[in-house]
Amino acid sequence: MSSFRKRALDEFSSHRAERFYVEKQPVSQYFGQNVFDIEKMRRYLSSEAFEAVQLAVIDGVKIDRSIANQIASGMKAWALERGATHYTHWFHPLTDATAEKHEAFVDPSKNGGVFENFRGEALVQQEPDASSFPNGGLRNTFEARGYSAWDPSSPAFIIDDTLCIPSVFVAYTGESLDMKTPHLKSLQQLDKAATELAKMFDSKAARVNVMLGIEQEYFLVDEALYRARPDLMLCNRTLIGHTAAKDQQLEDHYFGAIPSRVMCFMKDFETEAFKLGVVLKTRHNEVAPNQFEFAPYHAEANLSVDHNLMMMILMRKIAKRHKLKVIFHEKPFAGINGSGKHCNWSMVTNTGVNLLSPGKTPRNNIQFLSFFVSVIRAVYEHHHLLMSSVASLNNSYRLGGSEAPPAIMSVFCGTTLTEVLDSIENMAITDDSEENRAIKLDIVNKIPEILPDNTDRNRTSPFAFTGNRFEFRAVGSSVNVASSMFILNAAVAQQIMRFKTLADKEMSEGLSKDEAILKVIRLFIIESKNIRFEGNGYSEEWHREAARRGLKGITDIPGAFAAFLDKKTLTLMEETHVLSEREVEARYEVLNEIFVKKLQIEARVIGDLTINHIIPTAIKFQNSLIENVLGLKELFGEDEYKSMSEKQLLSIKKISGYIQMLRDDVYGIINARKEANKIASHPERAVNYSDNVLPYIEKLRITTDKLEMLVDDELWPLPKYRELLFWR
Ligand code: ADP
Ligand code: MG
Repeated sequence: MSSFRKRALDEFSSHRAERFYVEKQPVSQYFGQNVFDIEKMRRYLSSEAFEAVQLAVIDGVKIDRSIANQIASGMKAWALERGATHYTHWFHPLTDATAEKHEAFVDPSKNGGVFENFRGEALVQQEPDASSFPNGGLRNTFEARGYSAWDPSSPAFIIDDTLCIPSVFVAYTGESLDMKTPHLKSLQQLDKAATELAKMFDSKAARVNVMLGIEQEYFLVDEALYRARPDLMLCNRTLIGHTAAKDQQLEDHYFGAIPSRVMCFMKDFETEAFKLGVVLKTRHNEVAPNQFEFAPYHAEANLSVDHNLMMMILMRKIAKRHKLKVIFHEKPFAGINGSGKHCNWSMVTNTGVNLLSPGKTPRNNIQFLSFFVSVIRAVYEHHHLLMSSVASLNNSYRLGGSEAPPAIMSVFCGTTLTEVLDSIENMAITDDSEENRAIKLDIVNKIPEILPDNTDRNRTSPFAFTGNRFEFRAVGSSVNVASSMFILNAAVAQQIMRFKTLADKEMSEGLSKDEAILKVIRLFIIESKNIRFEGNGYSEEWHREAARRGLKGITDIPGAFAAFLDKKTLTLMEETHVLSEREVEARYEVLNEIFVKKLQIEARVIGDLTINHIIPTAIKFQNSLIENVLGLKELFGEDEYKSMSEKQLLSIKKISGYIQMLRDDVYGIINARKEANKIASHPERAVNYSDNVLPYIEKLRITTDKLEMLVDDELWPLPKYRELLFWR
């Protein structure tokens, strides 16, 4: 067998299940020990400093310099006790990765030694030379300054020996260069809008928080095998590889017993996650072989996003000890399910009311319906943008297959709520007769207290109501979900504001509060009817039906990016103060740039694999066949050979045909790239790459996968799907 693959398989078989991070105490004893949370703040900060942080967290009050010094010094004392030697502003640039630049606490002292130093300025702001982060033209390299600024609403934490300070990242001119800033702004807007509306029902409502529970899917691959696959190493996905004879058709992996090596990894990961204050609640096998999922208990949205990104860092680190690689790519393996990050989303008031939870009383239910229809209306209004927000090269390989949501937005409500919405649509709001009043009351009363477990499930819907929250399922597994969440938040804020304005107007024109609210609920139901769909989202009929309804899906990725430049999007972003037009344009640039770069890398890697791995292997095998033919001819003579071994000649011809095709297509993809690279504008280049480079990747794959089935297994140089995916 090819030594490359053989060595990897040998190494792989020596890997064992083992635990490295074992805690003897119950989780509650060490939970959060690596987080500078409220409890630690109380212990390490003066009451003045503690108050200041709380005010900053709750009301966004600015922290002044002298207090910042006090906070920094308390934080330092805690971090040093926990063995930290460095600190970093931890931020989320537009790449989906997280960024950190570590600074040692130590500074030189006058007498030639060092002392641990951490001043307020260092806590509040850093100035990383950030010219190499994507910025979509918001910064020129000659004014490369970018600032990272502390986000006090997400507590600092320690990973390894580094104190990480969650931060936003903005340009010198104040424009945001990260994912966190627009997300925070959208949460603020939604808070403002939703509180105003909630006050109509509950005079004590003073704040509305978005709660987010992110389910993370991922694959695990053995490290030795991973290293023997240049495509996994450089693109995080297999560009070639024939599907294994068995994959997920027996449905024996989902919720199955977790393999022991994986279990050891999971337990170690969970132990460290608990120390970081993340309540990991659920773990299980996913549908595809070697695919898994974890879900933490939902938390306030900004925190939840930070936690998810922390977990991704932690998983990679811990997997290394287990000689595993975590693959977050949306579609690492062809022919089996890809991975997503389901975003469970709800709104809750400071008084503890989940605004998306139907209640026991009619009053609660009118409140529930107001928020419920506002979300649906928002998803309808910005359906194309929301779906476009999950578009990426990676996710394009997953979406729309019969495994993940279709690339058309729709909302699933379930039978009970569909009936309620339909009956409200059909009722007469302003008819004040005794009889009609009774009907109205009855409709509202009819909403039972729907227990989350009691709601229907529709796995084919990209946006489903699941009893007390909505679940957005199209988001990719490798991304920072803030990139979709800020759009959802802004869109909902916009509709809630509109709801309130319309209700106020009806009241000023003489309707009672309940009637006014019901009238707007009904209006929203009618306006957004087209986005509601209860059927099978994977079906052909739905695609036709959606087109009839005027719902715009995404067909190609650069086309989806263009949704950001729609007038409607710009108005939404400006109205909610989430992004300025310039910031939107910059993001649009970055999306296109990243798309091109990723595709460029894939094109290079598949070219390399084809020329340097696959073709030489195919030739070697072909030579052995030729040698065999010549030998047989020598032995039996030309005539007798002809009658006995026609098939063998056919094989040789076939292989040689495939080799020729591969050569042509590699030549083709190189030329297509060359041509595309001449285009200066990122968006135009992206379109060209999508039209002219992308098709070659699929074409090359088809041919190499056919060769994999023909060539002697001993010679095949890359670990095969069955080796990558099936092991216990
Ligand atoms: P599923 O059955 O859809 O796979 P999981 O149990 O894997 O669900 O994950 C559900 C996620 O939804 C968890 O993170 C959970 O905390 C979260 N969740 C539950 N209720 C709410 C809510 N009201 N708001 C936001 N998230 C919620
Ligand atoms: Mg789940």
